[in-house]
Formats: sequence, C-alpha cells, structure tokens
Amino acid sequence: MLIDSHCHLDFPYLSEQIDDVLGRARAAGIGVLVTISTRVRDFATVRAIAEAHDDVYCTVGTHPHNAAEELDVTLDELIALARHPKVVGIGEAGLDYHYDNSPRADQARSFRLHIAAARETGLPLVIHTREADEDTASILEEETGKGAFPFVLHCFTAGRGLAERGLALGGYVSFSGVVTFKNAEELRAFFDYAAGLGIDGLMVSPGYSYAKAPDQEHFLQRERTKALFRKVFAGKKWDFNHSPFFLDFLQGKREYQCTPWGNPNYSVLGWQKPCYLMADGYATTFQELMAETAWDKYGTGRDPRCADCMVHCGYEATAVVDAMSSPAKAAKSVWATFVR
Ligand code: SF4
Ligand SMILES: [Zn+2]
Ligand SMILES: [Zn+2]
Repeated sequence: MLIDSHCHLDFPYLSEQIDDVLGRARAAGIGVLVTISTRVRDFATVRAIAEAHDDVYCTVGTHPHNAAEELDVTLDELIALARHPKVVGIGEAGLDYHYDNSPRADQARSFRLHIAAARETGLPLVIHTREADEDTASILEEETGKGAFPFVLHCFTAGRGLAERGLALGGYVSFSGVVTFKNAEELRAFFDYAAGLGIDGLMVSPGYSYAKAPDQEHFLQRERTKALFRKVFAGKKWDFNHSPFFLDFLQGKREYQCTPWGNPNYSVLGWQKPCYLMADGYATTFQELMAETAWDKYGTGRDPRCADCMVHCGYEATAVVDAMSSPAKAAKSVWATFVR
C-alpha cells in the first residue's frame, strides 16, 4: 500500500476540492494520507478532515514559519491534542532560515517544545529544516541526550553532515519529489551520496507521461529513458534493491513485456485493474482481479497508454521471472547481485 506521509489537505486550494483531491489520490493507489498540521491554533480543521475520512490521518504542531504566533502553546496542550486517535505524529516543526518568517530564537523554542511532545507521546516528530543544518543537528543531539524521540527529517534538501548526524541519532531522512535531477551526472552523484549514507537498497524507476499525470510535457520518452540509464550505469555499480535484469532493461539491454499484476495495488476502492498507473476498474478480491482482468491487452505495443512505461512495478516482476527461467540466467543474476 502507498502512503502519502506528508500532505496539507487543509490548505485552501486543496480543502476547497477535498473530495476530488482524495478521489484522485485513491485512484492513483494511495491507501492512506497523513495531513500535516502547521498551526496548533488551526488544528481543529486538520483534525476534522482526518475524522471525516477513514483513510486520512494527521499530525499536530507549529511550522517554523508560524513559530512566533504560537509561543503560548504549552507542552501539556500539545500532548493532549496528540492523544486523539487520528494523530500519528507531531509537527511539522523545526528551523527554516531560508525564509526566516519567525525569529530564529522562536523557531528553536517551538522546535524544542515539539521534541518534548514527541519524547513524551512516542509519536514521530516531522522535522522541517531548511538552510539551518548546524542548529538543527545540534538541537537534535542535545535533546536526544535528555531522552530519545523518533523523528524524520522530511523532504530533505540539506547537506550530508545533517543527514549523517540525524541517522546516527536513530532518525529517518526522507528524500522526496524535490530530489530530481537534470542529467545522468547529477543522478550518479546522488547515488554516491545516498550509498555513502549507508542506505542499503536504493530503488529507481523512471516516471513517464501516464494518462493521469498532471504534466505530460516533462517526461522522458522510452528511448531517452534508455539513453539516460546507459549513461548513469556506465562503469559503475550501486547497491540496488532490483533484479540486475531490470537494470539491464532500463538501459535497453533487454526487451520485456510488463507483468501488470506483479505489484498489485489495493486501496479503499478495491484491487486496481490492471496496475497502479491505470485504473480500468476495481476488483473486490485478489482472485477476481486475477481471473477477470484481460491481462494480454496491456503492455507496450498492446495499449497506447503503455507505450512509454518502463516502471518498476510493471517490469521488475518480468525481470525476476526471466532471471529464474534458466540456470544460466539465475547464476548470472546471483553473480551480479552478490559478487561485485
Ligand atoms: S506497461 Fe504495464 S505497468 Fe505500465 S502502465 Fe501499462 S499495464 Fe501498467
Ligand atoms: Zn509540509
Ligand atoms: Zn516542511
């Protein structure tokens, strides 16, 4: 199941069309959404959205932009609000020195209050940090010294030092859609960086202009995708959670037809036919999905919507089946995975 762990459904342009927004999220295979609070004083709105929808959960907290407005929020108040059954995290709180919308001392005070709430409740703290690496790291280290608390450095764009210090404290780092790359060199540099952080098992999948993508203009088509991955993987290896044959496929060294049921997608609407990128109806049970979907109608060359698809969820399963199809291929796959 896919979880959108960070959205702001209370922001006006989303809340005005909340049913459409949730409908699109569900159709795209999102099973759960966590809407993130940015003002404790507006928490009632966030909580109401979570209460109204079974698949929406929320956090409670003050965004660093709003820290100066909410200095009167007490620890007891924050903890009491966090006890609501739909609250799954504290925040987002932290330090944003890019905008400096609140004085830095206020941001730090609010950040520490949220850390105390995370420590007390055991709920993970969603940390927003921008251009404040040193102060974020030293506050996290100092506060962890008083007692550990779970946290995620969300939507990470900071330097390697903060990532390493956060990971050393037992935290998580999320690299999200803001991590995009202009060319193969940038992608290679990112793989080096992530591997250096000790991330075991990177995954990579090319996007493409699937029917529901809001922006059809900026995706690479199939041939350009292959050319990009040929450059990315030239002479270099990283520790990927992929079949080596899928990585060959990305580079155009193997031709595969997709296996749309290889990564089935279940949401509140049911089992999505045929894959998470296309919603040609839903089945109530997995057996029904398998029995009633016209599988041979899908895939590159069969359905125009599939023409440029090279995604992991469709093609990894084919690569894995291929790797097991003969002793020679299995040996080659094991060799490429474990012997470097
Ligand atoms: S090629 Fe396969 S995985 Fe890709 S959109 Fe088509 S059916 Fe889905
Ligand atoms: Zn946010
Ligand atoms: Zn943020």
